[in-house]
Amino acid sequence: MVVIGGGFGGLAVTQALKRADVHVTLVDRSNHFLFTPLLYQVAMAGLAPAEIASPTRSLLRHQANARVLLAEVTEVDLVAREVHTRETRPLAYDYLVLAPGSTNAYFGHDEWVNVAPGLKDLDDAVEIRRRVLLAFEAAERETDEAARRRHLTFVVIGGGPTGVELAGAIAELATFVLARDFRSIRPDSTRVILVEGSESVLTSFGPELSARALESLRAMGVEVRPKTRVTNIDARGVECGGERIDASTVLWAAGVRAAPLGASLGVPVDKQGRIVVEQDCSIPGHPEVFCIGDAALFVPAGEEQPLPGVSPVAMQQGRFVAKKIARQVDRQPSAQTFKYLDKGIMATIGRSRAVARIGRIRLSGFIAWIAWLLLHIVYLIDFRNRVLVLIDWAWSYFTYQRGSRLITGHRLHAGTPGDQLDRQGEPVPDKPLNGLPRVGHDTA
Ligand SMILES: Cc1cc2nc3c(=O)[nH]c(=O)nc-3n(C[C@H](O)[C@H](O)[C@H](O)COP(=O)(O)OP(=O)(O)OC[C@H]3O[C@@H](n4cnc5c(N)ncnc54)[C@H](O)[C@@H]3O)c2cc1C
Repeated sequence: MVVIGGGFGGLAVTQALKRADVHVTLVDRSNHFLFTPLLYQVAMAGLAPAEIASPTRSLLRHQANARVLLAEVTEVDLVAREVHTRETRPLAYDYLVLAPGSTNAYFGHDEWVNVAPGLKDLDDAVEIRRRVLLAFEAAERETDEAARRRHLTFVVIGGGPTGVELAGAIAELATFVLARDFRSIRPDSTRVILVEGSESVLTSFGPELSARALESLRAMGVEVRPKTRVTNIDARGVECGGERIDASTVLWAAGVRAAPLGASLGVPVDKQGRIVVEQDCSIPGHPEVFCIGDAALFVPAGEEQPLPGVSPVAMQQGRFVAKKIARQVDRQPSAQTFKYLDKGIMATIGRSRAVARIGRIRLSGFIAWIAWLLLHIVYLIDFRNRVLVLIDWAWSYFTYQRGSRLITGHRLHAGTPGDQLDRQGEPVPDKPLNGLPRVGHDTA
């Protein structure tokens, strides 16, 4: 059996097959499992990359029937039952599970990728951290007031959980953390603008929690612009709602689409590239191939809305598919319908502020934040990471300091946009941001 992707879905299916009579080959192009709910904390210098990621190989070291291959899948031949990768010979399978997740969607504006990075993996988080910290450094050096304002203006596009978390965390970073360390930056000189196309932020949480989240963001000084569409982004800012906002840092949290692999299989996909799956998560016409998690479009029977792209869906589908395969291998009847158990959703907005819907209970403020904190500690996959994160959070809570504020992957001569002067003290024209090196690895 081959599993493509070692994220929430792929890892769940592999681990749930521990005692089954199968040989599992897990293929992933990255060597680690990433706990995405805490990714924004890495981007905002609260946690180090290694605290929220664990090597897949070590997570499966005690599972004798599973092997891990670091490789990028380029093609799946559903007829020959083979998986092709860039790095290996074709991998034959009897069963295949596709769990390649999703990627950022720029709605036809791929030219925005470099000027407004999205947050999907560790490299993105380290790149965003670098840009945010460099913007503060540039502002500290700057003597021109307009240029300093530009460096201290942060625009986050998209008011879903990731956008809200990023906007809240930047406001918090400026107010509590960095303002103490810099001499010319006052906390109130930082502007954080959250642009959202729909009526409000966190609309999937329902009107009541959405309103609370809006209130919290505004109390933290975030300028929220609902019902506003971004029409252009460049290295110096954004145009939205007929207005030009000068900002050196623009972050994208406005949309995702399924990983491109799904669309290359020649099976039905929706507008977001998700593979339309049957009620047992299999691909139509291929009972031996399953697709789970963010890459799948699963509409429960009798309902209109598909299941959301969240980690519990991916994990529960993974465990369901594992059980189904194990029973088929044992020649036992297997379940035909996956049923999702929705335990709720939560998002944090900043220090001591969060919103949560757990069953019928709606929580906001400090109590929701404590629930968020405890849940994320419990779900971190490694015991070592749980301890490290707990210590780091306690440290920053009581000292108002951030432990992971290193700027890496940057040489000053590589250029911070708009901040270089020639020998006469005149500004050197900006280099395009996509000329900056991306950070490959980071162990800070
Ligand atoms: C910033 C952020 C915050 C989030 N916060 C939350 C949250 O608080 N709560 C929540 O429930 N959900 C959250 N999510 C959503 C959650 O991460 C996803 O729903 C979940 O990861 C989906 O699991 P998956 O297995 O489908 O994909 P993933 O976990 O994304 O795993 C996909 C894997 O496939 C690999 N892969 C992709 N293509 C290939 C290829 N061609 N070859 C080899 N390997 C490949 C990738 O490297 C990756 O390891 C968040 C997501 C992000 C980005």
